[in-house]
Amino acid sequence: MSSDEQKKLRVGWFTFTCCEDSTVVFTEVLNDHWQEWRKLIDFVHARVLQKSNKMAEMDVAFIEGAISSADHKKRVEEIRQLSKWVVAVGACAVSGMPSAQRNNFDEKAKQEISFILDRFSHLEKVLSVKDVVKVDAELPGCPMDPGQFVEVVGKALDHFGVGPAESK
Ligand code: SF4
Repeated sequence: MSSDEQKKLRVGWFTFTCCEDSTVVFTEVLNDHWQEWRKLIDFVHARVLQKSNKMAEMDVAFIEGAISSADHKKRVEEIRQLSKWVVAVGACAVSGMPSAQRNNFDEKAKQEISFILDRFSHLEKVLSVKDVVKVDAELPGCPMDPGQFVEVVGKALDHFGVGPAESK
């Protein structure tokens, strides 16, 4: 990288079991911030934005949704290994709920859905992100609050020495 080349924050956006409403909020936030962030952020992985995505080293990984299968667990562990910061996004990622409602099913309902759990290698219980890996920050809410998301991006830009932190 030449000295006058802008250093960029390497960001990933990942989605697990959920309704993806925080992804919608994320894209809405980009309406206001894209022109600035495109100079400061390299989206390493964000399927909502681009076709070409990499599992590579990241400064910040945003993880939306609950963890409900063995495959999810493996992928979240891989994201953790690749990322300096992991941010759980939205209530499903932070606490599991509401995506984890089946955890509270009675025995009869659990029996009725057991063939689905077997077929898709779902975990016996739906987990939050911090049930699986260390989380550095959380954005609660259903969906996340856009102002809090912008604040975390600003903190990350500041922390990793990439351009000025945004205030709004
Ligand atoms: S936290 Fe709410 S908005 Fe976000 S994925 Fe879960 S149900 Fe959807």
